[in-house]
Formats: sequence, structure tokens, C-alpha cells
Amino acid sequence: MADGTKIEWARHPVTGAGASWNPIRARNLETGKIGHFCVHVSEGCRNCYAERWQPRFGNPVRFVEQDRKKVEIFVDAKALFQPLHWKKPRGIFVCDMSDLFDKGVSDDMIDMVFAVMALTPQHIYFVLTKRPARMREYLSDPKVVRRTYELACNMAIAHDVKFIWPIPNVWLGTSAEDQTTADERIPRLLATPAAKRFVSLEPLLGPVYVSERIDWVIAGGESGPKARPSHPDWFRSLRDQCATAGVPFFFKQWGEWIDADELWPSGPPLTFLGAQELAEFEGYQFQPQSSGHTMVRVGKRQAGRTLDGKTHDAMPALANRGAGGGE
Ligand code: SF4
Repeated sequence: MADGTKIEWARHPVTGAGASWNPIRARNLETGKIGHFCVHVSEGCRNCYAERWQPRFGNPVRFVEQDRKKVEIFVDAKALFQPLHWKKPRGIFVCDMSDLFDKGVSDDMIDMVFAVMALTPQHIYFVLTKRPARMREYLSDPKVVRRTYELACNMAIAHDVKFIWPIPNVWLGTSAEDQTTADERIPRLLATPAAKRFVSLEPLLGPVYVSERIDWVIAGGESGPKARPSHPDWFRSLRDQCATAGVPFFFKQWGEWIDADELWPSGPPLTFLGAQELAEFEGYQFQPQSSGHTMVRVGKRQAGRTLDGKTHDAMPALANRGAGGGE
């Protein structure tokens, strides 16, 4: 786990504090080292950040089905109970290095994660998955409610357990990268009992129309060495859809690539540069796009996170607390 995270949207709506929390770990059966494990489910996984990190943990696996036998998935007890010791309310990204609903994670393990979340109402948890079918099945099962409650009581020992289902401080989300994955996953998310539901469209690989019943939309481009550019109009469309529907919109980042006009609104007349000239312009890589946009690869840091000159940091408000984020 990490107290503090660079993920811009993983923040508590009031305190602004953020953390990532990875109680589900993978022990590499050859090296004995501890890392994480997951398996690609769609194009959005192609350049998985967590997968790239595994060799540094001594867990040289690829996130493919064939490598599942190389690891043992387990719950790290020290990490599991860490949120109980964090008094300041945090926004906590759950399993940002894997997927809590991957089939390698047993229901018993997921129960433990939900029990700890129920015991720490001071935090807001973001549970994000590309497997909303299993999340729905799990959270719709009455036996899960009983099991999680009993587990929370056992963990709390002498403390009272105020147990509400769905757990009010757990926000459920699904990731999608294009209309096909959005159409498949968002309805499953909407059919899942949850305090709040959000969608993360990152890396955005195509235009997406989002249902207005979602509580929060996050969008972003891809980062990393093999990052693919996202068309600026895809982000603009999501921003405008959210504004029309009254849904909070969070623009996380451009990623490695940015619309040249966004980067240099009054700078060099890039639109007049030909492909060859642009390629030579300060060494940037270029990618012409449709409808007259030129994308330049400047790296995530320089690309930043303003869209048409504006930062979009909206979050849903916290129920009954009279506080929340907003633009
Ligand atoms: S679901 Fe997430 S963690 Fe798993 S492979 Fe895909 S991007 Fe990586």
C-alpha cells in the first residue's frame, strides 16, 4: 500500500488526501518475491502499467492466463489492516496494481477487503474493475452481506460495528476504453448495489457516449512508452455530455500525447507545419489525426491535464456531509 498516490482522482473529496491500497498480492513461485498479478481482458490492458512494474518486484510475469500458474495470490495481512490505522480521511484506490474481481481472487479474500472498508467509514474507497459481471454477482449475493458483517465484527473485536449495505463509503467503478467496452460494462455496474458508481475511461481509445445515470466520469489518455494518442474531441464530447447531464467530470490527463493547439495555443503555427517539419520540431513525435488535429508526443508531465485551457476536477459530493468537490 502507499499512503499518498500520484493518481489525481484518488482523493478524499473533503480532505484531498489520497492513497492506494493493495491487500491482494501475488507471490512468485520461482523467486519467492511478492508482486501483483492480473490477466488482460481488453485493449485497454495492452500497455498495463502494473504489468510493467512486476520485474522490479522480482515477479517477472506477464499478465496472461498462461502465467497464472507462476504465482500464488494471497491477502497480505499487514496491508489489509493498514486503513484502520489511517485516522485522517483518505480517498483510497483499492487494488490499483491488479483487479479485485479477477478470478484468481477468491470470494473469501474479497470479503476481507469489504470488511475492512466497512470498518473504516472515515475513508472513501474507489473499487475499479474491468470485470463488473463478477462484481455484480458478488455484491448482489445476500450471503456476502452476512459473511462480510460477521467478518467485520470479528475484526473489530470490542468495537461496535455500524453496518450498512451497500457500504456508504465504497464507490464502485468500471473501466472502459471505447463504446464497445462501455456498452458491455456500464450496464453491469448500474445493476450492482453501490453507494456511488463511476466510470473511468482511460486509456480512452475511441469516442464514448455515457449514460447519465453514472455518478462520476473520469477520462484520460495513455501514458508509458507505447502509449496511444486519444483524439481531443473524444475528451471534449465526454466533458460536454457530463455538463449536459449534470454529472461530475474529471479530466485526469492527456497522457503522453497532446493536441498541439492545447500545448501552444499562441505558440508556433503548428497547423501550418508539414509532417516532416513537425517531426523535426524539438524532436517531438507527431501523429496527424482526423479533423485537422495534430497530436504531439511530449510526455505525460508536459502534456498536463488542461482541456481547452481548463482543469476539470469535479467529484461527486459526499452524502449528508454538505461537502464535496466541484469545478
Ligand atoms: S485489468 Fe487492469 S490490472 Fe488487470 S491487466 Fe487490465 S489494466 Fe492491468
